[in-house]
Amino acid sequence: MESVIDRMRVAPGDRVRLGSIATDDTFGWEKKAALRDLEKIKARLDLLQHRMFAEDRRSVLLVLQAMDAAGKDGTIRSILSGLNPAGVSVAPFGVPGGPEAEHDYLWRVHAQAPSKGRIVVFNRSHYEDVLVVRVKALAPKRVWARRYEHIREFEDLLSDEGTTVVKCFLHVSKEVQRERLQERIDDPEKRWKFRHGDLDDRALWPAYTRAYAEALSLTSTPHAPWYVVPADRNWVRNVAVARILLHHLERLDPQLPDPEEGIEGLVVE
Ligand code: AMP
Ligand code: MG
Repeated sequence: MESVIDRMRVAPGDRVRLGSIATDDTFGWEKKAALRDLEKIKARLDLLQHRMFAEDRRSVLLVLQAMDAAGKDGTIRSILSGLNPAGVSVAPFGVPGGPEAEHDYLWRVHAQAPSKGRIVVFNRSHYEDVLVVRVKALAPKRVWARRYEHIREFEDLLSDEGTTVVKCFLHVSKEVQRERLQERIDDPEKRWKFRHGDLDDRALWPAYTRAYAEALSLTSTPHAPWYVVPADRNWVRNVAVARILLHHLERLDPQLPDPEEGIEGLVVE
């Protein structure tokens, strides 16, 4: 399994070419068995999260980035259901407004970073500030071009201070995005998710692909690696992200705190 995780990881300094990374890989997994594994992975995640919460020293930040309809919401729902809500939360990042827009772009992001013992999942993140901002020219190049370095330093800071930073790019094909956007339009239960702007973003697919490739290339570091997760199949995507998260929690190996002296063997009358 290590090898699959290694295959998804962007090595520091690698130049990512998204066009040559499959969006429909299954890693040789078989769906039924993989979904059974997912339940085991989630049980293990729950145990390790419980220990990390008890340890109360370190934390995990999982960043999810993707084109529309790649399944950020579905991934979150799949991998976090079953964890103790006291120890996990999700922070979504939309168009900055109010005080967010009045500060530097990392201000709102840092405020949502996990506290000790917690797992936080970012649904979009500070990476939007080198993605949508770049693609739609919301800021001039001299402004966004400096941000890759800020981001590396920011994530180093988090890592130095006890937060494991893990970043997943959910890699979906343009054709599967088309199907899913169409489904959002056609299915009344999903229609609320669709916005006309989604088609504008879809039209900018090549520019987004270039911006993603550069962001992944410039910001995958030993302490905050990027993983490119094939996302054409929901089940592969969910199992892959769960495995990546588990891999990092296993590496953290959180320890339960020592109980007070003299508790073992006590009998409660
Ligand atoms: P959704 O995730 O579908 O709710 O959409 C959130 C929207 O907010 C997306 O269109 C993002 O591109 C946009 N967004 C997120 N962060 C930023 C940012 N820093 N600047 C501009 N737009 C952003
Ligand atoms: Mg959307």
